[in-house]
Amino acid sequence: MWYKKQQPMTRITIAKGDGIGPEIMEATLKVLSAAGAALEYDEIEVGEKEYLAGNTSGIKPESWDVIRKNKVFLKAPITTPQGGGYKSLNVSTRKFLGLFANVRPCTSLYPFVDTKHPKMDIVIVRENEEDLYAGIEHQQTDEVVQCLKLISRPGCEKIIRYAFEYAKQNNRKKVTCFTKDNIMKQTDGLFHQVFEEIGKEYPEIEQEHWIIDIGAAKMADTPENFDVIVVPNLYGDVLSDVAAQIAGSVGLAGSSNIGEECAMFEAIHGSAPKMAGKNTANPSGLLQGAVMMLNHIGQSDVAAAIQNAWLKTIEDGIHTKDIYQEGISKKLVGTQEFADAIIQNLGQKPNQLQPVSYSQEYKIQIPKYQRKPQQAKTLEGVDIFVHWPGFEANQLAELMTQLQKDKIKLSMITNRGIKVWPNGFEETFCTDHWRCRFVKEDYQEMSRAEIIELLQRAIETKVEVIKTENLYSFEGKKGYSLGQGQ
Ligand code: NAD
Repeated sequence: MWYKKQQPMTRITIAKGDGIGPEIMEATLKVLSAAGAALEYDEIEVGEKEYLAGNTSGIKPESWDVIRKNKVFLKAPITTPQGGGYKSLNVSTRKFLGLFANVRPCTSLYPFVDTKHPKMDIVIVRENEEDLYAGIEHQQTDEVVQCLKLISRPGCEKIIRYAFEYAKQNNRKKVTCFTKDNIMKQTDGLFHQVFEEIGKEYPEIEQEHWIIDIGAAKMADTPENFDVIVVPNLYGDVLSDVAAQIAGSVGLAGSSNIGEECAMFEAIHGSAPKMAGKNTANPSGLLQGAVMMLNHIGQSDVAAAIQNAWLKTIEDGIHTKDIYQEGISKKLVGTQEFADAIIQNLGQKPNQLQPVSYSQEYKIQIPKYQRKPQQAKTLEGVDIFVHWPGFEANQLAELMTQLQKDKIKLSMITNRGIKVWPNGFEETFCTDHWRCRFVKEDYQEMSRAEIIELLQRAIETKVEVIKTENLYSFEGKKGYSLGQGQ
């Protein structure tokens, strides 16, 4: 019988979610209870039932009070209706609670789980609050919709510092950053720049940056060359599923979502609706989330006991369908039987796989973000986006040059980012969504009143303006991109 020392009870919130959620939660809670985790639960309803009851946020308002009171949330996956007005509750929870760091370890369990990457042991630290997940989307013309990609300095600093602190605390040797800053020079450029800045504070940790496309290819090909990977939100979402799958199964990986006050723990996979109710899902992802949660709340001895029993069960060849392989596995089991086998192994350690022991002080603390002094900001011009159903950039330019006045001049027109005037190519395909850039001669400062007057002239000329974007320089450095081909 496995022995644990007495600990004070921690009250947490749980949600059983949708699809395979209830069965993997049942398996996880059974293991937590048998291991003697000192936990009390408040259960809330989230997901499909709430959406179908007409609650577009997927959660009752009073359930937020429970989550905020307990501060620790163990959540099974939920189904997010596709399209429509529904917002993902996963994304809302991460953002409402300020859970800025999403930590996703993906480790090979070779030779007991088949993988082409026996030495893989990576941790993806995914930014969790911003990027395209701001979910700010608009249809602007008949032909064009847009999604805003928002990257902030506090967001970058918090996640990148967290990644370095995680590496330091877990004795990891290297942090790799992936961005696409050759294309998105402002947004991904900021993430990369902050990585370079904060990296200087951790000279003992090796650091590198890859453009995400080749970086992702290398991670999928030779993951053993990577250690901790820090990435903006969307790239992290995609990469961590790839990493979990190539380590053995997407069903094996758990994740923690960490904020300054609250934390949420979950599997990385979704609700797999087709597998629901069949007792075939692998509960390991949620259990791995629960192990991270126990570490987070200081019950590291229970966390280690569960982790070692889980590794031993995998090593014994007792496998769910997703990782079962003739010649490697010994026994095919269902979700609940897999949990029972882990319970039988409590108190034991794996023989070949590396057993774990966790320190009591596992929680990673990073300093609160200190806002920087405001920079000198100069308004140099304005991008006016127009809905214009013609095809000829030169015709639009004739119209837009009528808006010029005094020193304010039309400097270029782009269509989906590519310069089409002046000197555009006939071959360039154009939609009905155009950006017309107005600047003052010699990039002198423009006033807001001059922009309003410009828009007034656009109304008089019957040009349909759909949005404007001010062009600023900060401390003399341009804070906007050139047109492609400019
Ligand atoms: P999914 O991760 O639910 O399932 C994809 C496939 O992965 C499954 O068909 C199955 O083959 C495999 N799989 C996933 N979990 C497994 C497990 N525990 N054991 C064995 N195999 C497993 O992805 P999906 O089908 O794209 O998404 C289904 C729903 O889940 C969607 O509504 C999506 O929005 C939601 N989702 C929720 C979360 C979350 O709650 N955190 C995360 C991702 C997706």
